Amino acid sequence: MTESKEILEKLKSAGNRMTQVRRAMVEILCRHKGPISAAELITSLKRRSLTVNKTTVYRELHFLLEKRIVREVDLLEGMKRYEILDESDHHHHMICLKCRSIQCIEMGHDLDEIESQILKNHDFKVLSHTLEFVGLCGRCRD
Ligand SMILES: [Zn+2]
Ligand SMILES: [Zn+2]
Ligand SMILES: [Zn+2]
Repeated sequence: MTESKEILEKLKSAGNRMTQVRRAMVEILCRHKGPISAAELITSLKRRSLTVNKTTVYRELHFLLEKRIVREVDLLEGMKRYEILDESDHHHHMICLKCRSIQCIEMGHDLDEIESQILKNHDFKVLSHTLEFVGLCGRCRD
C-alpha cells in the first residue's frame, strides 16, 4: 500500500499548492481498497466535513492523473474509477455482480507470453491490456 504521507511530501516539495481537499483526496485514495469513483470520493470528503462539488473533484483528479499519482480504471460501468498508480505493480480487478464490491488482484507478468506471441504471429505490438474478472464474492455466494 502506498503511503499518503510520501505522496503528499513529494507533491509539496515539487512546489505544488497543497489544499485541504487535495490532501484529503490523496489520503482517501491511499486508504481505499480498490478503485474509487468520483461520487464515492465526494461522499468521503463530505464525511470529513469538506464541501466540494463535482468540478473541484474532477479538477483535482485531473491534477493527480497528470502527476501520475493516480490512474483511471474503466470497468465498463459508464463511469471511471481512480486508484493510486504504482508503476511497479501490475494488477486486475474482481468485480462482484451482487454487492458490486471491487477487489484488486496482483497478476505480475500475466500476459507477457501471449503478448510476445501476438507480436510474432500478428505483427502487433501490445502496449497494454484490460482484463477484469466478473463473478460472485464469498459473502454473496453464501
Ligand atoms: Zn459480493
Ligand atoms: Zn486496483
Ligand atoms: Zn495483466
